[in-house]
Amino acid sequence: MVTAVVGANWGDEGKGKITDTLAEKADIIIRFQGGANAGHTIKNKYGKFALHSLPSGVFYDHTTCIIGNGVALNIPILCGEIDDLVEKGVPKPHILVSERAQMVMSYHILFDQYEEERLGGKSFGSTKSGIAPFYADKFSKIGFQVSELFDSKENLMDKIENVCEKKNVLLEHLYHKPLLKADELYDELMKYKAMIEPYVCDVSSYLDEALKAGKNILLEGQLGTLKDPDHGIYPMVTSSSTLAGYGAVGAGLPPYEIKKVVTVVKAYSSAVGAGEFVSEILDEDVADELRRRGGDGGEYGATTGRPRRMGWFDIPASKYGCRLQGTTDVAFTVLDVLGYLDEIPVCVAYDINGEITTEFPTTAKLKIAKPVIEKLPGWKCDIQGIKKYEDLPENCRKYIEFVEEKIGYPITMVSNGPGREDIIYR
Ligand code: GDP
Repeated sequence: MVTAVVGANWGDEGKGKITDTLAEKADIIIRFQGGANAGHTIKNKYGKFALHSLPSGVFYDHTTCIIGNGVALNIPILCGEIDDLVEKGVPKPHILVSERAQMVMSYHILFDQYEEERLGGKSFGSTKSGIAPFYADKFSKIGFQVSELFDSKENLMDKIENVCEKKNVLLEHLYHKPLLKADELYDELMKYKAMIEPYVCDVSSYLDEALKAGKNILLEGQLGTLKDPDHGIYPMVTSSSTLAGYGAVGAGLPPYEIKKVVTVVKAYSSAVGAGEFVSEILDEDVADELRRRGGDGGEYGATTGRPRRMGWFDIPASKYGCRLQGTTDVAFTVLDVLGYLDEIPVCVAYDINGEITTEFPTTAKLKIAKPVIEKLPGWKCDIQGIKKYEDLPENCRKYIEFVEEKIGYPITMVSNGPGREDIIYR
């Protein structure tokens, strides 16, 4: 059976923690999209880890972790993460990398930087990990697939020369930067070949066998619905689909095998980078208090350390986020963080030119949407350590049930702390 773990919001919902928790009963965990531009933070008996490439299942020795074909594979980062785990005493994980995954090249990272420089104040706030140039090349069919590392030197050089020709026009005339050299790119690819060879696998066949053998498979998404290039806040989105449906494509398995979609929804909102964010807290002191208390050690980017923008729970965004994922179960996370508030504001609808709606609109309308806020009573205590739903304070249960009713999807898991064991099943 296949379960997808995905985000409903702008990312950083706590998917890593939920995947890590569910991975206890999984055989295989797959990353199916995105790259090393975002990270999951996981806390367990080995320490605290920020994973950027590896799936969150790497901490168990019974799991196989897979980098699917849909991922932007940064080989030095992936191999660095594997070394780091082993150094910190985690048993060496069993890792497979799809032969159909494409590789992030050093020039993708450079193009990302050059483009942000060129755009100046109008930049997308990219993490400069090369993700957008990578996916652009993949779909213009000039990317490098892992399988091509095993092709003849002649074929590879042909392709490299074509890439240099195209890229060098931009480097010379648009960015005024040093040009690419074919032999250096060949050496880069050969270095990647040596690093990745032990992990390369025909992943879709492997998964076909695994499904026939009744294995439990988890698909782990990066970011959330609102960063999806089609259904998110375009153009302030990421470059690969963040939706569970894409899991089938980005891993290489049949869509009908995805039986369960666990959508991770955070009890308040946060976002990184630019883009529409209707429920954003505009009072900087109020935002900063939530930021400092948020997540585990504050709401700062796992990859960049950037302070995240903070907001109240957003019903239209989360309802939409869950719908597009095809949610069967909601995991409601970081609820414990709200324990300090007397009253908890919730954005229950948007006011768009006087029209009140709970539907999430396209970007042009989002720009003029104002939040309609309703306040719920707080519970004023620490709920970490509580194991049973009935033992949660009444106002806390009311908050959960209010959100559940408004978004229209069942909250079957409540996360009340960063650890694996901090989970209440309903
Ligand atoms: P992801 O990218 O969706 O995996 O999210 P991040 O890793 O960026 O953010 C989640 C942060 O919140 C991490 O630091 C987690 O350790 C932490 N976290 C996850 N669930 C909970 C929770 O229920 N309570 C608290 N306090 N922290 C949590």
